[in-house]
Amino acid sequence: MKIAFIGLGNMGGPMARNLLKAGHALTVFDVVERNVEALTALGAAGAGSAKLAAAAGELVITMLPSSPHVKSVYLGDDGVLAGVRRGVTLVDSSTIDPHSAREVAAAAAAHGNPMADAPVSGGTGGAEAGTLTFMVGADPALFDTIKPTLAHMGKNIVHCGGAGTGQVAKICNNMLLGISMVGVAEAMNLGAALGIDPKVLAGIINTSSGRCWSSDTYNPYPGVMENVPAARGYTGGFGTDLMLKDLGLATDAAKQAKQPVALGAMAQQLYQLWSSQGGGAQDFSAIIKLLHKPAANQRNRP
Ligand code: NAD
Repeated sequence: MKIAFIGLGNMGGPMARNLLKAGHALTVFDVVERNVEALTALGAAGAGSAKLAAAAGELVITMLPSSPHVKSVYLGDDGVLAGVRRGVTLVDSSTIDPHSAREVAAAAAAHGNPMADAPVSGGTGGAEAGTLTFMVGADPALFDTIKPTLAHMGKNIVHCGGAGTGQVAKICNNMLLGISMVGVAEAMNLGAALGIDPKVLAGIINTSSGRCWSSDTYNPYPGVMENVPAARGYTGGFGTDLMLKDLGLATDAAKQAKQPVALGAMAQQLYQLWSSQGGGAQDFSAIIKLLHKPAANQRNRP
């Protein structure tokens, strides 16, 4: 299939490579020239704009940083809708707010192009390995059409409901992850402060009712698990600033829906504080450092 792929960053680059490997013909665009060159070196055709890339596609896939980028890439003068043929399917895999996703899908539909939101989880490792989970918001027939292509980039392709529901699933899950990581960090710090071996405590939690992914697969306390960011100085993994972005999407969407998310908002502020103290580039489990007991000589400082 001829696929236009726009946005070739940490996620889009490896996703596009997996489509090439599967035998698709790609026309690619990114505002960063070297990201385009990395793909043309592997056999993709480069385009000078999103409009020109989209004009060459029988399917258009985008993987962009956030909502304003998605709106400008789809709706701008040099954007996807200005170039794409009527009837061609559009898939946006960026993580953005559900409201914007529905707005762009409605504009696409008015132009004669069916559109799905298909954000992913699995990180850059999953993008490289082609094992991403896709959370797809689309009508059922559209979902069936795009599923085989998404399967070249991911192993779980889940239909969440109509337009925007892929984004809803993504931000609800990540809000819960952000909250649960803070909870595990607090419990581990409290246990250590009260004198239990953190490994013993983690073992108890992981066979008891406090167990969750943040405790049994990604424990934030150093020395409890191997092969997690806490074991390597909180490098790699899922950055604090990316978590902060997703918590912002969740709390903004909650405001629009007039739905209370008390712990989500609290978690957002904690990651914001951690980011403002220089932790933004570290893995989000480093939030445990924000919650450490202050050193004795700092306790009475203003
Ligand atoms: P990234 O910043 O590495 O890549 C985004 C790419 O889009 C960049 O190459 C950038 O140059 C390009 N771009 C920006 N504006 C553009 C425009 N107007 N036209 C064309 N290209 C443009 O980001 P990423 O890590 O690849 O993430 C992409 C999306 O996936 C984000 O929404 C992110 O939240 C989501 N996501 C990321 C991860 C992760 O672990 N990195 C995991 C899951 C989901």
